[in-house]
Amino acid sequence: MDLQAFLSRRVVTPEGIRPAGVLVDGEVIRNIVTLDQIPSEAKIVDFGKSAVLPGLIDVHVHINDPGRTEWEGFETATCAAATGGFTCVVDMPLNCVPATTGVAALEAKRAAAKGRCWVDWAAWGGVVADNQQNITKLAGAGVRGFKCFLVHPGIDEFTMVTEQQLRRALPYIAKTGLPLLVHAELPDGIDAATKNLAGADWTEYSTYLQSRPEESELSAIKLLISLCREYRFRLHIVHLSANQALPALRAGRLEGLPVSVETCPHYLHFQAEAISRGKTQFKCAPPIRGAENREQLWSALKDGTIDLVATDHSPCPPEMKRLTEGNFQTAWGGIASLSVALPVMYTEAHARGFALTDIARWMAEAPAKLVGCQLQKGKIAAGYNADLVVFDEDSEFLVTPERLHHRHPFSPYMGEKLKGEVKATYVRGRLVFANNAFHGKPEGRELPA
Ligand SMILES: [Zn+2]
Repeated sequence: MDLQAFLSRRVVTPEGIRPAGVLVDGEVIRNIVTLDQIPSEAKIVDFGKSAVLPGLIDVHVHINDPGRTEWEGFETATCAAATGGFTCVVDMPLNCVPATTGVAALEAKRAAAKGRCWVDWAAWGGVVADNQQNITKLAGAGVRGFKCFLVHPGIDEFTMVTEQQLRRALPYIAKTGLPLLVHAELPDGIDAATKNLAGADWTEYSTYLQSRPEESELSAIKLLISLCREYRFRLHIVHLSANQALPALRAGRLEGLPVSVETCPHYLHFQAEAISRGKTQFKCAPPIRGAENREQLWSALKDGTIDLVATDHSPCPPEMKRLTEGNFQTAWGGIASLSVALPVMYTEAHARGFALTDIARWMAEAPAKLVGCQLQKGKIAAGYNADLVVFDEDSEFLVTPERLHHRHPFSPYMGEKLKGEVKATYVRGRLVFANNAFHGKPEGRELPA
């Protein structure tokens, strides 16, 4: 591939936003230069006033492949990722069959991904009730870390772990040096709240919200922090929704514990008060909480208590959302947002005075650190992969099914008016998406070990 020069008046680098040319040599950024330093042999692509951001990395995606490809799959998930400005996605170990709890299952996932990915990808391994002996082998085979649930994950073949089972796994996890991602809700509070709601109207969102109290997140996080202190493993809290847990997380970090935290666009955009009766497309776990809670999550992003934003892209066939009966108890929980997460984040962040450098930190740089690819991806800098997103901040659009490129184009974002639009996505120097069309072939690859 020849030398390319991507010009923009707004190149988003870790040092700030400035007019620059990003020189790309094959798959890698050679340098970032001023506009008068562009070598004459470079092929110039000028994006004008559209911003150029580092390719986003989504550390929380459910691709469901192999095994549940009627829900999603490598091809559709990575198409959706490319349209949303993501150049790397990390797949969760459940929902696929077999679940990624051993090396053979990881190999089955690799076989399913082969030749079908539009962006780069990597895998998390699963920690379940009885696979402690597989942890070291999975790490050696190339997973980037592990995921477990402290509550039933909604999928019977991927078991939750009790504190005792987790204690058996933690020495192995700590030894790998890889992070453990935890769905932090404890079942006791949820079971008690649900029991109290017998006879309640489950088409009301407030019923579902009451069934998953903040206290369940808080007690799980307190337990995890004490385990982190004891075993010194890298703890990552996925999809934090409850602001009540923020003080415990701040204290853990102040103490110097290796704790990181993510939240999701849906917790930062929607509010429980506005979710109408029967609108089960909004169901996810933990639940979308109230407007005041949402603002606390934004404050925690600002002060660094929350490190990063991941989508928790979790699609399913529309029937499973039970949209006709609108029952929040029986509907599948999960929100698919790969195609729109960046505009959602930009819309909300811009309104609160944040800059694109903040979004690049939350959605590229910090995720790269979690995944362990921070020397190759997550920044626009010399020597890094030429993963680039061209983003027009002035453009506005309404979310329609044509904008959603995952398998079943429905989402709670439908009909939302969003600010900012992905104009083009480059993966390691190759154009994969521009102006609503895909280019080239699915040449995404798994992150190298
Ligand atoms: Zn998830």
